[in-house]
Amino acid sequence: MEAATLYDLIVIGGGPAGSACAITAARAGARVLLLEKDQFPRHKVCGEFVSAESLELLRSLNGSHFQDKPAIETARLFMRNRRVSFQLPRAAMSIPRFELDAGLFHAAQMQGVHARQGVHVGEVLRDGTFQVFTPEQPFVAKAVVNATGRWSNLAQRRASPSKWIGLKAHFREAGSAPSVDLYFFPGGYCGVQQVGHDRVNACAMVRANVARTLTQVFSLHPELWKRSRDWEPLFPTLTTSGLLFRRPETQFQHMILVGDAAGFIDPFAGDGISLALHSGALAAQSLLPFFAGKATLNEVHHEYASLYQQRFAGAFRNARRMRRILSSPEWVRSTMLGIAGLKPVASALVSSTRAK
Ligand SMILES: Cc1cc2nc3c(=O)[nH]c(=O)nc-3n(C[C@H](O)[C@H](O)[C@H](O)COP(=O)(O)OP(=O)(O)OC[C@H]3O[C@@H](n4cnc5c(N)ncnc54)[C@H](O)[C@@H]3O)c2cc1C
Repeated sequence: MEAATLYDLIVIGGGPAGSACAITAARAGARVLLLEKDQFPRHKVCGEFVSAESLELLRSLNGSHFQDKPAIETARLFMRNRRVSFQLPRAAMSIPRFELDAGLFHAAQMQGVHARQGVHVGEVLRDGTFQVFTPEQPFVAKAVVNATGRWSNLAQRRASPSKWIGLKAHFREAGSAPSVDLYFFPGGYCGVQQVGHDRVNACAMVRANVARTLTQVFSLHPELWKRSRDWEPLFPTLTTSGLLFRRPETQFQHMILVGDAAGFIDPFAGDGISLALHSGALAAQSLLPFFAGKATLNEVHHEYASLYQQRFAGAFRNARRMRRILSSPEWVRSTMLGIAGLKPVASALVSSTRAK
């Protein structure tokens, strides 16, 4: 029987984090296998706000692919009785996950990554090398990066049930403007953002006991309800599994964790994709000395953990604080926002939750 190819790196999960990692490692000369359980293109629950901090990296990974997408220069926050509108310090971009994830996966293939879709990884074992088991065949690698997102069979099980869910769909809206609009209500928020000509993405994070459908979500904010009356759905609403917030971790069973598998930042920060791209690229860079025989895998884990902490811990901490304010009871929130002012809170939301 023919011996299995020994890859330098197997990346499990072909979302933004996995593709960024695979592309970066392959460009540096590593033999990389990227395994994704789904088939692209596919929709995914996400606000599709791609922050300015990720655009340079995205371009370097994927060329000028998304230049035609709406630039988002304005944000509007709608609280119960107040609203604030402000310019973003740097323009973000609106890119549907349908195109973003498929585009990055394709870019990985173009860089020489062996990228396979429809392959579910069931188990990973380590005995000197890593053995990665799929229903078809096992694969072998010197290192494994786990980019499987928030929930996966390859992460630590967490018992605490989540109260938050995510919902998303695209709608036709005549004359939509290129801004990101966040509507806050007790028990959650809904983001609305232009994703194309006369087309908006509505994406909500909401407590499961408050709403289970987007129509229920829209009814929770009078201005959103009014705005959504004439919307025409463009595909059925998608729902996520529960959203759990926990402190980031950078390894599990010797696999390096990247993107949401390492840590899930509050969606209102609009920084999850950026964190996924940056942490994916960072993991690949941290692994290069190991592939060159100049560092052990343990040293790589330490180096990656320390750089991850330096670059991303602040964003998680600030997003956590912001979540506490935004999910506090209405009277507490009003008092705090009354004291601090809505505009400073809004700009803190944008600037302090960014991965660098
Ligand atoms: C409601 C909501 C709104 C959001 N809005 C925004 C936003 O506007 N802007 C923003 O930047 N971020 C947003 N986010 C966060 C963003 O979606 C994530 O941070 C981002 O998708 C993380 O990318 P990732 O590559 O780490 O994981 P994912 O995108 O989840 O990719 C993981 C991939 O791994 C695959 N996989 C899982 N298990 C296996 C397995 N065993 N074998 C093979 N493949 C596997 C999955 O199929 C998936 O394709 C939002 C999140 C939510 C829930």
